[in-house]
Amino acid sequence: RLVIGVLALQGDVREHMHALEAVGASPVRVRRVSEILSVDGLVIPGGESTTMSRLLTTFDLFSPLKAALDDGLPAYGSCAGMIMLARTVMNTRPDAVSLGALDISVRRNAFGRQVDSFEEDLTVAGIDDGPVRAVFIRAPWVEEHGAGVEVLAKVETGPATGRVVAVRQGAVMATSFHPEVTGDHRIHRLFVDGVRNKHGQAR
Ligand code: GLN
Repeated sequence: RLVIGVLALQGDVREHMHALEAVGASPVRVRRVSEILSVDGLVIPGGESTTMSRLLTTFDLFSPLKAALDDGLPAYGSCAGMIMLARTVMNTRPDAVSLGALDISVRRNAFGRQVDSFEEDLTVAGIDDGPVRAVFIRAPWVEEHGAGVEVLAKVETGPATGRVVAVRQGAVMATSFHPEVTGDHRIHRLFVDGVRNKHGQAR
């Protein structure tokens, strides 16, 4: 079984642990450098990215985590986790840091106050057996992405139609929405399958 860490500084850690368990991985909470170095992949949960940024710095985890990602550690971020994995973050605090594991520029709280939270069924590339119910909570969207980034899903209705909300670059994935809260584990399965493939190739 693959050991998948969930960064457990802040955010909806438990929901990701359950989803990972459900797709046959062995989830562990990650709070120390030694734990970063011992996992096959890492999930960064939803929560609050400026708080997560501050805690990463406070606990001296930012540099080791960035180094592990630069070194190819597979990762998946939902919502605040997407923000943490981005190269550039728009509409954040000037002192907030991000990990640059995805060649994307994201806009925090992009959907605006009127639509703080909403849900939509989305077609997700790589998930062929029906749409995924996407729950957005003060979500970011992907404003720009590099050529190496694969778009997995876009908003399909309403004023934000066409906005990119799920991406993958190699073994790193991110969604603006929270699959961990719906009981549908197909996004986590997609991530864990990607981790497994990467490990298969390395051997
Ligand atoms: N708005 C939050 C942030 O900027 C993200 C919200 C979430 O993860 N649901 O970090």
